[in-house]
Amino acid sequence: MSEDIPFDKSLDLVPDRADEVVPGVRRVMANNPGPFTFKGTISYIIGKGHVAIVDPGPDDPAHIGALLDAVRNETVTHIFVTHTHRDHSPAVPAVKAATGATVYAEGPHRAARPLHIGEHNPLDASADRDFKPDVALKDGAVVEGDGWRIEAVATPGHTANHMCYALKDRNILFAGDHVMAWATSIVAPPDGAMSDYMASLHKLAKRSETLYLPGHGPAIKDAPRFVNYYILHRKAREASILHRLGKGETDIPTIVRAIYIGIDPRLTGAAGLSVLAHLEDLVARGLVETDGQPAIDGVYRLAR
Ligand SMILES: [Zn+2]
Repeated sequence: MSEDIPFDKSLDLVPDRADEVVPGVRRVMANNPGPFTFKGTISYIIGKGHVAIVDPGPDDPAHIGALLDAVRNETVTHIFVTHTHRDHSPAVPAVKAATGATVYAEGPHRAARPLHIGEHNPLDASADRDFKPDVALKDGAVVEGDGWRIEAVATPGHTANHMCYALKDRNILFAGDHVMAWATSIVAPPDGAMSDYMASLHKLAKRSETLYLPGHGPAIKDAPRFVNYYILHRKAREASILHRLGKGETDIPTIVRAIYIGIDPRLTGAAGLSVLAHLEDLVARGLVETDGQPAIDGVYRLAR
C-alpha cells in the first residue's frame, strides 16, 4: 500500500552527536529508536552564536546533555516545539532552565475532538500534558532571531497543536511529524483528525519550501512533490477502505488485516486508529454510516 511513496530510509547519524545538515542548521538525534520514532527524534539548532532549538526532544539526560554541549559558548534565545508528543517536548523544561530561552508553540496538548461517552483515550501515554509554551503562536506568526526568521505554519492533523516552522528566505521547513521521509505520519483519533491532516497537507503543497527537516529520519528534498505523494497515498487508503466496505466488511480489525499486509505487529494498534481516522472523515462527509459516533469497535457500511 505504501510503496507508492518514494520513502528514504538512509540516515547515517550517530545518536547525540551534532552535525550540520545544511549550512546554518545543526541537528542532534536522540537515542530513542522505535517503530514510531525510526532511529530517534531529531532536535535542530538554527543559527550560530545566538541560536534557536526546534524540538528539544524526549526527557533523556544523555540527549539533553548532548544538545546543551552542542551549543556550549552560544546563547539559546528561542525554543520552538512542533507538537506535544513525549518524544518531542519533555526536554523543554531542562533546556529552558539551562539556557533561559523563550518557548514558542501553538499551545498545550489537546485532543482534536471531545471524547465520546465511554471512550478512553488510547494515546494518553504518548502525550506531554505538562507542556505550556511561553508564547502561543498563531498561524503565520513570524519570530525573528539573530540572522534568521521563522514563520509558524499551523498544520493540525497528527496532533491538534502541530506546528511546522518555515525558515524564511531559505526555503526550509521544520516539518515535525507532519511529513517524514521514512514513513507516513500517524493520524490517530482523538488526538489526530484526518480532515485536518489532509487540509494541512494541501496547505503545504502550495508553499514554496523545497527542503523539509522532519522530526524523524533524513531531510526531504523536492518536498512539494513528496507531499503530493503523501496526499495520493491517503486517497488510495481511503479508496481501499471504501472498497472493503463495499465487499461487506464492517469492522476495523478486518479492514486492517485486509489492507495493511505485512505490517509490523507493533503498529497494528496505530493502523486501527488510522482506519478509524479515515472512517470518522468518511462518516462526516456522508459516504459511510455507523450507529452512533464512529468508534474503534464500531460497525460500518457504505451510505446509500
Ligand atoms: Zn508525534
